[in-house]
Amino acid sequence: IKRNPDEPEFHQAALEVLESLEPVAERNPHWVRAGIFDRIVEPERQIFFRVPWVDDQGTVHVNRGFRIQFNSAIGPYKGGIRLHPSVNASILKFLGFEQVFKNSLTGLPIGGGKGGSDFDPKGKSDGEVMRFCQSFMTELYRHIGENTDIPAGDIGTGAREIGFMYGQYKRIKNNFTGVLTGKGLTWGGSLARTEATGYGLCYFMEEALRAKGKSFKDATVVISGSGNVAVYAAIKTSELGGKVVALSDSNGYIYDPQGINIDTVRKIKEVERKRINEYVKYHPGASYTEGCAGIWTVKCDIALPSATQNEIDEESATALVSNGCYAVGEGANMPSTPGAIRVFLKNGVIFGPAKAANAGGVATSALEMAQNSMRYSWSFEEVDAKLKSIMVGIYKAASSAADEYGYQGNLCAGANIAGFLKVADAMYSQGIAY
Ligand code: NDP
Repeated sequence: IKRNPDEPEFHQAALEVLESLEPVAERNPHWVRAGIFDRIVEPERQIFFRVPWVDDQGTVHVNRGFRIQFNSAIGPYKGGIRLHPSVNASILKFLGFEQVFKNSLTGLPIGGGKGGSDFDPKGKSDGEVMRFCQSFMTELYRHIGENTDIPAGDIGTGAREIGFMYGQYKRIKNNFTGVLTGKGLTWGGSLARTEATGYGLCYFMEEALRAKGKSFKDATVVISGSGNVAVYAAIKTSELGGKVVALSDSNGYIYDPQGINIDTVRKIKEVERKRINEYVKYHPGASYTEGCAGIWTVKCDIALPSATQNEIDEESATALVSNGCYAVGEGANMPSTPGAIRVFLKNGVIFGPAKAANAGGVATSALEMAQNSMRYSWSFEEVDAKLKSIMVGIYKAASSAADEYGYQGNLCAGANIAGFLKVADAMYSQGIAY
Protein backbone atom coordinates (compact mmCIF):
# COMPACT_ATOMS: atom_id res chain seq x y z
CA ILE A 1 0.00 0.00 0.00
CA LYS A 2 2.92 2.36 0.79
CA ARG A 3 4.55 1.62 -2.55
CA ASN A 4 1.31 2.13 -4.51
CA PRO A 5 -0.62 4.98 -2.85
CA ASP A 6 -3.98 5.97 -4.34
CA GLU A 7 -4.52 2.60 -6.01
CA PRO A 8 -7.55 1.23 -4.12
CA GLU A 9 -8.75 -1.09 -6.90
CA PHE A 10 -5.30 -2.63 -7.25
CA HIS A 11 -4.99 -3.12 -3.46
CA GLN A 12 -8.44 -4.76 -3.42
CA ALA A 13 -7.55 -7.22 -6.19
CA ALA A 14 -4.07 -8.02 -4.83
CA LEU A 15 -5.27 -8.53 -1.26
CA GLU A 16 -8.08 -10.84 -2.33
CA VAL A 17 -5.62 -13.07 -4.18
CA LEU A 18 -2.78 -12.97 -1.65
CA GLU A 19 -5.06 -13.89 1.27
CA SER A 20 -6.24 -17.03 -0.48
CA LEU A 21 -2.64 -18.02 -1.32
CA GLU A 22 -1.59 -18.46 2.32
CA PRO A 23 -1.85 -22.29 2.25
CA VAL A 24 0.10 -22.31 -1.02
CA ALA A 25 2.92 -20.31 0.59
CA GLU A 26 2.99 -22.73 3.53
CA ARG A 27 3.42 -25.70 1.22
CA ASN A 28 6.00 -23.97 -1.00
CA PRO A 29 8.60 -22.20 1.16
CA HIS A 30 11.02 -22.19 -1.82
CA TRP A 31 8.61 -19.83 -3.61
CA VAL A 32 8.59 -17.53 -0.60
CA ARG A 33 12.41 -17.53 -0.54
CA ALA A 34 12.49 -16.77 -4.28
CA GLY A 35 10.30 -13.71 -3.68
CA ILE A 36 7.51 -14.99 -5.92
CA PHE A 37 4.78 -13.36 -3.79
CA ASP A 38 6.56 -9.95 -3.89
CA ARG A 39 7.37 -10.22 -7.58
CA ILE A 40 3.90 -11.24 -8.69
CA VAL A 41 2.31 -7.99 -7.45
CA GLU A 42 4.83 -5.80 -9.29
CA PRO A 43 4.17 -5.33 -13.04
CA GLU A 44 7.13 -6.22 -15.24
CA ARG A 45 6.66 -2.94 -17.10
CA GLN A 46 4.24 0.02 -17.10
CA ILE A 47 4.01 2.39 -20.04
CA PHE A 48 2.20 5.76 -19.74
CA PHE A 49 1.99 8.02 -22.76
CA ARG A 50 0.45 11.15 -24.29
CA VAL A 51 -2.38 10.72 -26.81
CA PRO A 52 -3.12 13.99 -28.63
CA TRP A 53 -5.98 14.10 -31.15
CA VAL A 54 -8.09 16.68 -32.97
CA ASP A 55 -11.91 16.81 -32.77
CA ASP A 56 -14.31 17.64 -35.63
CA GLN A 57 -14.18 21.34 -34.73
CA GLY A 58 -10.39 21.42 -34.94
CA THR A 59 -9.83 21.58 -31.17
CA VAL A 60 -6.85 19.64 -29.81
CA HIS A 61 -7.42 17.19 -26.91
CA VAL A 62 -4.83 15.33 -24.90
CA ASN A 63 -5.64 12.01 -23.26
CA ARG A 64 -3.39 9.63 -21.37
CA GLY A 65 -2.57 6.17 -22.73
CA PHE A 66 -1.49 3.20 -20.62
CA ARG A 67 -0.19 -0.33 -21.11
CA ILE A 68 0.55 -2.45 -18.06
CA GLN A 69 2.70 -5.44 -19.03
CA PHE A 70 2.15 -7.39 -15.85
CA ASN A 71 3.55 -10.88 -16.21
CA SER A 72 5.04 -12.81 -19.13
CA ALA A 73 6.13 -15.99 -17.29
CA ILE A 74 3.86 -18.33 -19.27
CA GLY A 75 3.43 -16.41 -22.54
CA PRO A 76 3.30 -12.98 -24.19
CA TYR A 77 1.27 -10.31 -22.39
CA LYS A 78 -2.40 -10.48 -23.29
CA GLY A 79 -5.32 -8.34 -22.14
CA GLY A 80 -7.77 -5.74 -23.34
CA ILE A 81 -7.73 -2.01 -23.95
CA ARG A 82 -10.29 -0.04 -21.93
CA LEU A 83 -11.49 3.34 -23.18
CA HIS A 84 -13.46 5.04 -20.40
CA PRO A 85 -13.10 8.37 -18.56
CA SER A 86 -12.57 6.49 -15.26
CA VAL A 87 -9.38 4.79 -16.52
CA ASN A 88 -6.29 5.34 -14.36
CA ALA A 89 -3.21 3.38 -13.26
CA SER A 90 -5.01 1.72 -10.33
CA ILE A 91 -7.84 0.34 -12.46
CA LEU A 92 -5.52 -0.93 -15.17
CA LYS A 93 -3.15 -2.49 -12.63
CA PHE A 94 -6.03 -4.35 -10.97
CA LEU A 95 -7.22 -5.54 -14.37
CA GLY A 96 -3.71 -6.55 -15.45
CA PHE A 97 -3.13 -8.41 -12.19
CA GLU A 98 -6.41 -10.34 -12.50
CA GLN A 99 -5.59 -11.09 -16.13
CA VAL A 100 -2.41 -12.94 -15.12
CA PHE A 101 -4.39 -15.57 -13.18
CA LYS A 102 -7.30 -15.67 -15.61
CA ASN A 103 -5.03 -16.31 -18.58
CA SER A 104 -3.23 -19.03 -16.67
CA LEU A 105 -6.56 -20.68 -15.84
CA THR A 106 -7.45 -21.01 -19.53
CA GLY A 107 -4.58 -23.53 -19.85
CA LEU A 108 -3.29 -21.56 -22.87
CA PRO A 109 0.19 -20.00 -23.14
CA ILE A 110 -0.64 -16.35 -22.45
CA GLY A 111 0.77 -13.90 -19.92
CA GLY A 112 -1.19 -11.00 -18.43
CA GLY A 113 -1.49 -7.32 -19.33
CA LYS A 114 -4.02 -4.53 -19.70
CA GLY A 115 -4.16 -1.10 -21.25
CA GLY A 116 -6.37 1.78 -22.16
CA SER A 117 -7.01 5.47 -21.95
CA ASP A 118 -9.22 7.98 -20.16
CA PHE A 119 -10.71 8.82 -23.58
CA ASP A 120 -14.53 8.56 -23.69
CA PRO A 121 -15.75 7.21 -27.06
CA LYS A 122 -19.37 7.99 -26.07
CA GLY A 123 -20.84 10.83 -28.13
CA LYS A 124 -17.79 11.05 -30.41
CA SER A 125 -18.09 10.84 -34.20
CA ASP A 126 -16.50 7.94 -36.10
CA GLY A 127 -13.84 10.37 -37.36
CA GLU A 128 -12.96 11.49 -33.83
CA VAL A 129 -12.76 7.90 -32.58
CA MET A 130 -10.56 7.02 -35.57
CA ARG A 131 -8.16 9.89 -34.96
CA PHE A 132 -7.92 9.01 -31.27
CA CYS A 133 -7.26 5.31 -32.04
CA GLN A 134 -4.61 6.20 -34.62
CA SER A 135 -2.84 8.50 -32.19
CA PHE A 136 -3.04 5.87 -29.42
CA MET A 137 -1.48 3.23 -31.68
CA THR A 138 1.19 5.63 -32.97
CA GLU A 139 2.83 5.25 -29.56
CA LEU A 140 1.61 1.80 -28.52
CA TYR A 141 2.89 0.02 -31.64
CA ARG A 142 6.52 0.07 -30.43
CA HIS A 143 5.63 -1.83 -27.24
CA ILE A 144 3.51 -4.65 -28.69
CA GLY A 145 3.90 -7.51 -31.16
CA GLU A 146 2.51 -10.96 -31.93
CA ASN A 147 5.13 -12.58 -29.66
CA THR A 148 5.40 -9.74 -27.12
CA ASP A 149 2.03 -8.29 -26.23
CA ILE A 150 -1.32 -8.81 -27.98
CA PRO A 151 -4.01 -6.33 -26.85
CA ALA A 152 -7.76 -6.90 -27.33
CA GLY A 153 -11.07 -5.13 -26.66
CA ASP A 154 -12.66 -4.19 -23.34
CA ILE A 155 -15.10 -1.50 -22.17
CA GLY A 156 -15.35 1.12 -24.93
CA THR A 157 -13.17 -0.86 -27.33
CA GLY A 158 -15.24 -2.90 -29.75
CA ALA A 159 -14.85 -3.96 -33.37
CA ARG A 160 -14.74 -0.37 -34.64
CA GLU A 161 -11.90 0.71 -32.33
CA ILE A 162 -9.88 -2.50 -32.89
CA GLY A 163 -10.22 -1.89 -36.66
CA PHE A 164 -8.84 1.66 -36.43
CA MET A 165 -5.98 0.55 -34.16
CA TYR A 166 -5.10 -2.43 -36.35
CA GLY A 167 -5.10 -0.27 -39.49
CA GLN A 168 -2.65 2.14 -37.89
CA TYR A 169 -0.38 -0.66 -36.60
CA LYS A 170 -0.21 -2.22 -40.07
CA ARG A 171 0.42 1.15 -41.70
CA ILE A 172 3.37 1.89 -39.42
CA LYS A 173 4.90 -1.60 -39.32
CA ASN A 174 4.07 -2.75 -42.88
CA ASN A 175 3.25 -6.05 -41.30
CA PHE A 176 -0.01 -8.06 -41.42
CA THR A 177 0.15 -9.99 -38.18
CA GLY A 178 -2.06 -11.12 -35.32
CA VAL A 179 -0.98 -8.28 -33.02
CA LEU A 180 -4.53 -7.48 -31.84
CA THR A 181 -7.45 -9.82 -31.25
CA GLY A 182 -11.12 -9.09 -31.72
CA LYS A 183 -10.37 -8.37 -35.39
CA GLY A 184 -13.04 -8.37 -38.10
CA LEU A 185 -13.79 -11.70 -39.76
CA THR A 186 -12.47 -10.52 -43.16
CA TRP A 187 -9.06 -9.59 -41.74
CA GLY A 188 -8.00 -12.28 -39.28
CA GLY A 189 -10.73 -12.35 -36.65
CA SER A 190 -12.08 -15.55 -35.17
CA LEU A 191 -15.65 -16.73 -35.40
CA ALA A 192 -17.27 -16.84 -31.93
CA ARG A 193 -14.88 -14.25 -30.43
CA THR A 194 -17.65 -11.66 -30.14
CA GLU A 195 -19.89 -14.13 -28.32
CA ALA A 196 -17.14 -15.75 -26.26
CA THR A 197 -17.17 -13.93 -22.91
CA GLY A 198 -20.95 -14.03 -22.51
CA TYR A 199 -21.28 -17.59 -23.79
CA GLY A 200 -18.29 -18.72 -21.71
CA LEU A 201 -19.81 -17.18 -18.58
CA CYS A 202 -22.95 -19.29 -19.10
CA TYR A 203 -20.93 -22.45 -19.83
CA PHE A 204 -18.98 -21.94 -16.60
CA MET A 205 -22.11 -21.26 -14.55
CA GLU A 206 -23.93 -24.20 -16.12
CA GLU A 207 -21.18 -26.45 -14.78
CA ALA A 208 -21.19 -24.82 -11.33
CA LEU A 209 -25.00 -25.06 -11.18
CA ARG A 210 -24.96 -28.70 -12.30
CA ALA A 211 -22.63 -29.58 -9.43
CA LYS A 212 -25.38 -28.35 -7.05
CA GLY A 213 -28.23 -30.04 -8.92
CA LYS A 214 -29.44 -26.82 -10.55
CA SER A 215 -29.48 -25.31 -14.06
CA PHE A 216 -30.49 -22.28 -16.12
CA LYS A 217 -33.70 -24.06 -17.15
CA ASP A 218 -36.70 -21.93 -16.05
CA ALA A 219 -34.46 -19.70 -13.92
CA THR A 220 -35.12 -15.95 -13.73
CA VAL A 221 -31.91 -14.11 -14.55
CA VAL A 222 -30.77 -10.52 -14.02
CA ILE A 223 -27.79 -9.27 -16.04
CA SER A 224 -26.20 -5.85 -15.55
CA GLY A 225 -24.77 -3.89 -18.46
CA SER A 226 -25.91 -4.07 -22.06
CA GLY A 227 -22.55 -4.25 -23.80
CA ASN A 228 -20.66 -7.12 -25.37
CA VAL A 229 -20.59 -9.43 -22.34
CA ALA A 230 -24.17 -8.75 -21.19
CA VAL A 231 -25.77 -9.19 -24.62
CA TYR A 232 -24.20 -12.58 -25.35
CA ALA A 233 -24.74 -13.80 -21.80
CA ALA A 234 -28.41 -12.93 -22.30
CA ILE A 235 -28.58 -14.82 -25.60
CA LYS A 236 -26.94 -17.96 -24.16
CA THR A 237 -29.08 -17.76 -20.99
CA SER A 238 -32.21 -17.89 -23.17
CA GLU A 239 -30.81 -20.77 -25.22
CA LEU A 240 -30.24 -22.68 -21.99
CA GLY A 241 -33.85 -22.13 -20.93
CA GLY A 242 -33.47 -19.17 -18.57
CA LYS A 243 -35.47 -15.92 -18.69
CA VAL A 244 -33.57 -12.62 -18.59
CA VAL A 245 -35.79 -9.98 -16.98
CA ALA A 246 -33.42 -7.02 -16.47
CA LEU A 247 -30.47 -5.30 -18.18
CA SER A 248 -28.83 -1.92 -17.53
CA ASP A 249 -26.44 0.77 -18.69
CA SER A 250 -24.58 3.33 -16.60
CA ASN A 251 -27.74 5.48 -16.29
CA GLY A 252 -30.40 2.97 -15.24
CA TYR A 253 -32.02 -0.41 -15.79
CA ILE A 254 -34.91 -1.94 -17.71
CA TYR A 255 -37.23 -4.60 -16.31
CA ASP A 256 -39.42 -6.72 -18.55
CA PRO A 257 -41.42 -9.42 -16.73
CA GLN A 258 -42.12 -11.12 -20.09
CA GLY A 259 -38.38 -11.58 -20.65
CA ILE A 260 -36.14 -9.01 -22.33
CA ASN A 261 -36.29 -8.96 -26.14
CA ILE A 262 -32.59 -9.07 -26.93
CA ASP A 263 -33.03 -8.11 -30.60
CA THR A 264 -34.48 -4.79 -29.48
CA VAL A 265 -31.55 -4.25 -27.11
CA ARG A 266 -29.02 -4.99 -29.85
CA LYS A 267 -30.75 -2.59 -32.25
CA ILE A 268 -30.65 0.19 -29.61
CA LYS A 269 -27.10 -0.43 -28.36
CA GLU A 270 -25.19 -1.85 -31.31
CA VAL A 271 -26.86 -0.19 -34.31
CA GLU A 272 -28.31 3.09 -33.00
CA ARG A 273 -25.73 3.46 -30.15
CA LYS A 274 -28.49 4.89 -27.93
CA ARG A 275 -29.36 4.46 -24.22
CA ILE A 276 -31.14 1.44 -22.75
CA ASN A 277 -34.18 3.54 -21.70
CA GLU A 278 -35.26 3.51 -25.38
CA TYR A 279 -36.35 -0.11 -24.80
CA VAL A 280 -39.68 0.88 -23.18
CA LYS A 281 -40.70 2.70 -26.39
CA TYR A 282 -40.74 -0.68 -28.16
CA HIS A 283 -42.07 -2.73 -25.23
CA PRO A 284 -44.64 -0.76 -23.22
CA GLY A 285 -45.04 -3.66 -20.76
CA ALA A 286 -41.47 -3.03 -19.58
CA SER A 287 -40.29 -0.35 -17.18
CA TYR A 288 -37.17 1.81 -16.91
CA THR A 289 -35.68 2.99 -13.60
CA GLU A 290 -32.96 5.64 -13.24
CA GLY A 291 -29.83 4.51 -11.38
CA CYS A 292 -28.04 1.30 -12.34
CA ALA A 293 -27.52 -0.07 -8.77
CA GLY A 294 -31.28 -0.64 -8.38
CA ILE A 295 -31.07 -3.61 -10.73
CA TRP A 296 -29.94 -5.80 -7.79
CA THR A 297 -33.29 -5.31 -6.07
CA VAL A 298 -35.03 -7.16 -8.94
CA LYS A 299 -36.02 -10.64 -7.77
CA CYS A 300 -34.03 -13.36 -9.54
CA ASP A 301 -32.57 -16.85 -9.21
CA ILE A 302 -29.29 -16.09 -10.96
CA ALA A 303 -27.41 -12.78 -11.26
CA LEU A 304 -24.73 -12.17 -13.90
CA PRO A 305 -23.06 -8.78 -13.18
CA SER A 306 -21.54 -7.82 -16.55
CA ALA A 307 -20.99 -4.05 -16.46
CA THR A 308 -18.03 -2.90 -14.39
CA GLN A 309 -15.96 -3.21 -11.18
CA ASN A 310 -17.52 -2.88 -7.71
CA GLU A 311 -21.07 -2.67 -9.03
CA ILE A 312 -22.42 -5.03 -6.30
CA ASP A 313 -21.72 -3.84 -2.77
CA GLU A 314 -22.67 -5.55 0.48
CA GLU A 315 -26.12 -3.94 0.48
CA SER A 316 -26.90 -5.05 -3.07
CA ALA A 317 -25.59 -8.55 -2.31
CA THR A 318 -27.85 -8.73 0.74
CA ALA A 319 -30.83 -7.63 -1.37
CA LEU A 320 -30.08 -10.36 -3.93
CA VAL A 321 -29.81 -13.07 -1.27
CA SER A 322 -32.99 -11.87 0.51
CA ASN A 323 -34.86 -12.14 -2.79
CA GLY A 324 -33.80 -15.77 -3.22
CA CYS A 325 -30.87 -15.43 -5.63
CA TYR A 326 -28.86 -18.67 -5.38
CA ALA A 327 -26.12 -18.14 -7.99
CA VAL A 328 -23.91 -15.23 -9.09
CA GLY A 329 -21.57 -15.43 -12.08
CA GLU A 330 -19.23 -12.51 -12.66
CA GLY A 331 -19.15 -11.46 -16.33
CA ALA A 332 -17.44 -8.15 -15.54
CA ASN A 333 -14.05 -7.90 -13.85
CA MET A 334 -14.29 -7.62 -10.03
CA PRO A 335 -17.97 -6.53 -10.05
CA SER A 336 -18.47 -7.66 -6.43
CA THR A 337 -16.85 -5.81 -3.54
CA PRO A 338 -15.10 -7.92 -0.85
CA GLY A 339 -18.13 -7.31 1.42
CA ALA A 340 -20.50 -8.60 -1.29
CA ILE A 341 -18.40 -11.74 -1.80
CA ARG A 342 -18.51 -12.40 1.95
CA VAL A 343 -22.33 -12.18 1.84
CA PHE A 344 -22.51 -14.63 -1.08
CA LEU A 345 -20.13 -17.18 0.43
CA LYS A 346 -21.73 -16.98 3.88
CA ASN A 347 -25.17 -17.66 2.40
CA GLY A 348 -24.09 -20.60 0.25
CA VAL A 349 -24.61 -18.75 -3.05
CA ILE A 350 -22.95 -20.53 -6.00
CA PHE A 351 -20.34 -17.89 -6.81
CA GLY A 352 -18.40 -17.86 -10.10
CA PRO A 353 -15.53 -15.35 -9.70
CA ALA A 354 -14.60 -13.18 -12.67
CA LYS A 355 -11.14 -14.53 -13.33
CA ALA A 356 -12.66 -17.97 -13.92
CA ALA A 357 -16.18 -17.21 -15.13
CA ASN A 358 -15.33 -14.53 -17.71
CA ALA A 359 -12.14 -16.14 -19.05
CA GLY A 360 -13.92 -17.28 -22.22
CA GLY A 361 -13.15 -14.03 -24.01
CA VAL A 362 -9.41 -14.15 -23.58
CA ALA A 363 -9.38 -17.91 -24.20
CA THR A 364 -11.03 -17.35 -27.57
CA SER A 365 -8.62 -14.50 -28.25
CA ALA A 366 -5.82 -17.02 -27.78
CA LEU A 367 -7.63 -19.28 -30.25
CA GLU A 368 -7.70 -16.32 -32.65
CA MET A 369 -3.91 -16.02 -32.21
CA ALA A 370 -3.52 -19.73 -32.96
CA GLN A 371 -5.58 -19.41 -36.15
CA ASN A 372 -3.56 -16.33 -37.22
CA SER A 373 -0.29 -18.23 -36.69
CA MET A 374 -1.59 -21.10 -38.81
CA ARG A 375 -3.04 -18.72 -41.44
CA TYR A 376 -6.22 -20.73 -41.10
CA SER A 377 -9.69 -20.35 -39.61
CA TRP A 378 -11.92 -22.71 -37.73
CA SER A 379 -15.72 -22.86 -38.02
CA PHE A 380 -17.99 -21.28 -35.42
CA GLU A 381 -18.88 -24.73 -34.10
CA GLU A 382 -15.21 -25.71 -33.69
CA VAL A 383 -14.34 -22.54 -31.77
CA ASP A 384 -17.50 -22.75 -29.65
CA ALA A 385 -16.77 -26.39 -28.77
CA LYS A 386 -13.21 -25.49 -27.74
CA LEU A 387 -14.55 -22.58 -25.67
CA LYS A 388 -17.01 -24.83 -23.87
CA SER A 389 -14.37 -27.41 -23.08
CA ILE A 390 -12.02 -24.68 -21.78
CA MET A 391 -14.75 -23.31 -19.48
CA VAL A 392 -15.55 -26.77 -18.12
CA GLY A 393 -11.80 -27.26 -17.56
CA ILE A 394 -11.56 -23.96 -15.67
CA TYR A 395 -14.47 -24.95 -13.43
CA LYS A 396 -12.82 -28.28 -12.65
CA ALA A 397 -9.42 -26.68 -11.99
CA ALA A 398 -10.89 -24.09 -9.61
CA SER A 399 -13.09 -26.59 -7.86
CA SER A 400 -10.35 -29.17 -7.30
CA ALA A 401 -7.78 -26.55 -6.17
CA ALA A 402 -10.37 -25.34 -3.62
CA ASP A 403 -10.81 -28.90 -2.32
CA GLU A 404 -7.07 -29.58 -2.23
CA TYR A 405 -6.18 -26.42 -0.29
CA GLY A 406 -8.98 -26.53 2.30
CA TYR A 407 -11.43 -24.12 0.65
CA GLN A 408 -14.19 -26.64 -0.21
CA GLY A 409 -16.86 -25.06 -2.41
CA ASN A 410 -15.05 -21.69 -2.60
CA LEU A 411 -14.41 -21.19 -6.33
CA CYS A 412 -12.95 -17.77 -5.61
CA ALA A 413 -10.00 -19.13 -3.64
CA GLY A 414 -9.82 -22.16 -5.95
CA ALA A 415 -9.47 -19.99 -9.07
CA ASN A 416 -6.79 -17.85 -7.43
CA ILE A 417 -4.78 -20.91 -6.46
CA ALA A 418 -5.18 -22.83 -9.73
CA GLY A 419 -4.19 -19.73 -11.72
CA PHE A 420 -1.26 -18.93 -9.46
CA LEU A 421 0.38 -22.39 -9.34
CA LYS A 422 1.32 -22.45 -13.01
CA VAL A 423 2.62 -18.86 -13.09
CA ALA A 424 4.61 -19.31 -9.87
CA ASP A 425 6.19 -22.52 -11.14
CA ALA A 426 7.20 -20.79 -14.40
CA MET A 427 8.61 -17.74 -12.56
CA TYR A 428 10.59 -19.98 -10.22
CA SER A 429 12.00 -22.05 -13.10
CA GLN A 430 13.04 -18.92 -14.99
CA GLY A 431 15.11 -17.57 -12.09
CA ILE A 432 15.49 -14.09 -10.66
CA ALA A 433 16.97 -11.36 -12.87
CA TYR A 434 19.32 -9.10 -10.90
P1 NDP B 1 -18.96 -2.74 -23.17
O1 NDP B 1 -18.33 -1.40 -23.30
O2 NDP B 1 -19.40 -3.46 -24.38
O3 NDP B 1 -20.24 -2.63 -22.20
C1 NDP B 1 -20.13 -2.17 -20.90
C2 NDP B 1 -21.51 -2.08 -20.29
O4 NDP B 1 -21.39 -1.78 -18.91
C3 NDP B 1 -22.34 -0.95 -20.90
O5 NDP B 1 -23.69 -1.29 -20.85
C4 NDP B 1 -22.03 0.22 -19.97
O6 NDP B 1 -23.03 1.19 -19.94
C5 NDP B 1 -21.92 -0.47 -18.63
N1 NDP B 1 -21.00 0.27 -17.78
C6 NDP B 1 -19.72 0.63 -18.06
N2 NDP B 1 -19.18 1.34 -17.05
C7 NDP B 1 -20.14 1.43 -16.12
C8 NDP B 1 -20.19 2.03 -14.84
N3 NDP B 1 -19.15 2.70 -14.33
N4 NDP B 1 -21.34 1.88 -14.14
C9 NDP B 1 -22.40 1.20 -14.65
N5 NDP B 1 -22.40 0.62 -15.86
C10 NDP B 1 -21.29 0.72 -16.57
O7 NDP B 1 -17.94 -3.61 -22.30
P2 NDP B 1 -17.84 -5.19 -22.16
O8 NDP B 1 -19.20 -5.78 -22.20
O9 NDP B 1 -16.81 -5.66 -23.09
O10 NDP B 1 -17.22 -5.32 -20.70
C11 NDP B 1 -18.02 -5.38 -19.52
C12 NDP B 1 -17.20 -5.94 -18.38
O11 NDP B 1 -16.74 -7.26 -18.73
C13 NDP B 1 -15.94 -5.17 -18.02
O12 NDP B 1 -15.68 -5.31 -16.63
C14 NDP B 1 -14.85 -5.90 -18.79
O13 NDP B 1 -13.56 -5.71 -18.24
C15 NDP B 1 -15.32 -7.33 -18.61
N6 NDP B 1 -14.80 -8.27 -19.59
C16 NDP B 1 -15.01 -8.10 -20.93
C17 NDP B 1 -14.53 -9.04 -21.81
C18 NDP B 1 -14.84 -8.97 -23.28
O14 NDP B 1 -14.51 -9.93 -23.99
N7 NDP B 1 -15.47 -7.92 -23.78
C19 NDP B 1 -13.70 -10.17 -21.37
C20 NDP B 1 -13.62 -10.31 -19.92
C21 NDP B 1 -14.12 -9.36 -19.09
P3 NDP B 1 -22.84 2.56 -20.78
O15 NDP B 1 -23.18 2.21 -22.19
O16 NDP B 1 -23.81 3.51 -20.15
O17 NDP B 1 -21.42 2.98 -20.59
